[in-house]
Amino acid sequence: MERTILHFDGDSFFASIEQAMDYRLRGKPIVTGAERGAATALSIEAKRLGLYRGMPMKEIRERCPDIVVVNSNYTAYSVYARRMYAIVRRYTPLVEEYSIDECFADITGLEHAYSMTYEQIALMIKHDLEASLGITFGVGMGPSKVIAKIGSKHNKPAGFTPIARELIPAFLEKVPIGSVWGIGRAMTLTLSALGITTALQFAQKDEAWLREHKIAKPYREIWYELRGGFTKQLALEPDQIPGSIIKTRTFSPPSKDKAFVFAQLSKNIERACAKARGVGAHAREVGVMLKSQDFLYRNREVPLSLPTNDPMIILGALRKVFAEMFVPNILYRATGVSLRSLVHESALPQDLFGASAKASEQVAILSAVDTLNRRYGSQTVHLASSLKAVQHREPDRQKKRKVAQVKLSVEQRKKTIDLPFLGRVH
Ligand SMILES: [Mg+2]
Repeated sequence: MERTILHFDGDSFFASIEQAMDYRLRGKPIVTGAERGAATALSIEAKRLGLYRGMPMKEIRERCPDIVVVNSNYTAYSVYARRMYAIVRRYTPLVEEYSIDECFADITGLEHAYSMTYEQIALMIKHDLEASLGITFGVGMGPSKVIAKIGSKHNKPAGFTPIARELIPAFLEKVPIGSVWGIGRAMTLTLSALGITTALQFAQKDEAWLREHKIAKPYREIWYELRGGFTKQLALEPDQIPGSIIKTRTFSPPSKDKAFVFAQLSKNIERACAKARGVGAHAREVGVMLKSQDFLYRNREVPLSLPTNDPMIILGALRKVFAEMFVPNILYRATGVSLRSLVHESALPQDLFGASAKASEQVAILSAVDTLNRRYGSQTVHLASSLKAVQHREPDRQKKRKVAQVKLSVEQRKKTIDLPFLGRVH
């Protein structure tokens, strides 16, 4: 089936967000990146003054004394990014979170579901994004990701550019080969040495030519997509919301150490929250389970005042409950946690600067934690409250763990992690 891919690209994203958050900045030339002394992002008005990204602030102030210079606020930008993905997901589950200000969406087949043309669907999503976030988006539409990305760049700002198959050559003719997504500086030089300066010239080559010049696979894919084919699959985020997320773990030997049992619970909470963040779920209720040596179970449910997947908030809500549940001088052998009444982040209340904004301050830190734990192994970074559980070695697993620990410590040397309230391990 012919694909219909959309690409959304926030116009001057960071600068536009600053303007959306503070009405006094609207329509004015503004620059972000004060903290690093050079422009990180420029509003459309600032770009019109001939300022550019990376330009030193000193020079900017000299040239335009009236310009507004602000510090970057990456927490706010990442909240806006998550809202952007969530809004697009209301229309199709096939969304790739490509970068903080860009995403792809596959709307193939949805014209029947919506009884609208693909153009109308694209515009509907664009309008929703712009009305909800207060910033404009460049939107491209085409049979492949490469073509959709050419479309979103075409008519800035706030453009919508559908590129139907028959229009592809006319567009590619005007696109320098170096501006095609995925073609870097080295490949641009290689291709221009072969006489190719536009995307169209590359697309018009045949397979024999690609073989003859030993064009590598990623570039053959770009070539194929420029011709209207589809090779670059969307990297989809799992956005299915499960009914609940449960994490339990038995430890041995059984323990009556209150701090140790709480650390086990804390570790389970961290694991459950990481899983919830992976699927964009927030819990409105959390269940705790303690299991003793003689198989007595204790369970408690705790409602959360705001839906969350932040382990710090959940731990805070559970501390008192745990103290009530824990019976001294009983041997415990397992703890468990279940996150329940899950809501997808797209369905969260949108009071960005109300109570949920406070919760979302942790978004950037938690996503950094998730990245580190994905890259360097789970529990590379964890809460201090989980430390006793993370350090605990199961007697029979000791040998296996030791190997893993050595590997981890090598990685640790490469990357020192120092976050204010998180326990540093190893
Ligand atoms: Mg952008």
